[in-house]
Amino acid sequence: MKPSDILRGACDMHVHSGPALVPRGIDHVQAVRACAEAGMRALVIKDQHVPSGNVAQIIQQYFVKKEENFNVYGGLILGNTQGGLNPAVVEAAVGYDTKVVWMPVLSSLYNREMTAKLSSAGKSTLPKPKFPIRFNPPQTILDSCGKLLPEVCDIVQIISDADIVLATGHINPRTEIPPLLDEAVKRGVKKIVVTHPEFFRDHTVEQMREYSDAGFFVEHILATIYSNKLTYDELFTYITEGGDNIIISSDLGQIGRPDPVKGLTAFIREMQKRGLPDETLRRIMCENQRTLLNLEPFGAE
Ligand SMILES: [Zn+2]
Repeated sequence: MKPSDILRGACDMHVHSGPALVPRGIDHVQAVRACAEAGMRALVIKDQHVPSGNVAQIIQQYFVKKEENFNVYGGLILGNTQGGLNPAVVEAAVGYDTKVVWMPVLSSLYNREMTAKLSSAGKSTLPKPKFPIRFNPPQTILDSCGKLLPEVCDIVQIISDADIVLATGHINPRTEIPPLLDEAVKRGVKKIVVTHPEFFRDHTVEQMREYSDAGFFVEHILATIYSNKLTYDELFTYITEGGDNIIISSDLGQIGRPDPVKGLTAFIREMQKRGLPDETLRRIMCENQRTLLNLEPFGAE
């Protein structure tokens, strides 16, 4: 199949378009129009500092035609600027048809520790906001005994009741992810994404496969290719050895990088060059995302 055919019906569940506090190369409307014109099925806006449900709804209303069969959804990161680990914020976001809730990202304690390590090693870190957020203490989802905070359990319950996606964000893979996944399973969350476990190089392929085999979805992203943290060969290994429950997200929108459509197209070409079957590409770019976003199965349009 041509890359443009594989892209038809694909979803991108992690797009960093603007306006945003982190300077962006494209805005939400440009990202939505590019994806809809490529025949994609859906996009989720991941703003690092504010919930994006309401902006997604107004863009859906005025910038997407009915016949395009395209959905733009909001996401919510539970960072300090979004209200932190606050169940009321999550309830409100559900009301705006938000589809993905991420545990803390830039303000998580683990993110702070890992980026400090990377920058002291001279490696590139995450893009910075236009101004430093002063009231921004490091966040953890655990209490001092290592148990999940009660508000995190409430948030997990809201996500379960709404049947939307719980994503791990940038929390600690050893101390925070395991109790979160246990609680999510216990409370009946059906759509769980382990956010780009390759990002800080803190997971082996075997661990990624274990997540997938346990019914969780493992997200891999393309932005790390452009920041030279990951190669297409490594990504190919993660996809071929990491189990069936994989999703590819662009994580693009940054200045100087391709837009999501161009990034996803380049990814398809690189994987086809390495012999990845079209059915696998469809599964990790379209079908798994449709399950996670509760969209009709492929072939329905
Ligand atoms: Zn991202």
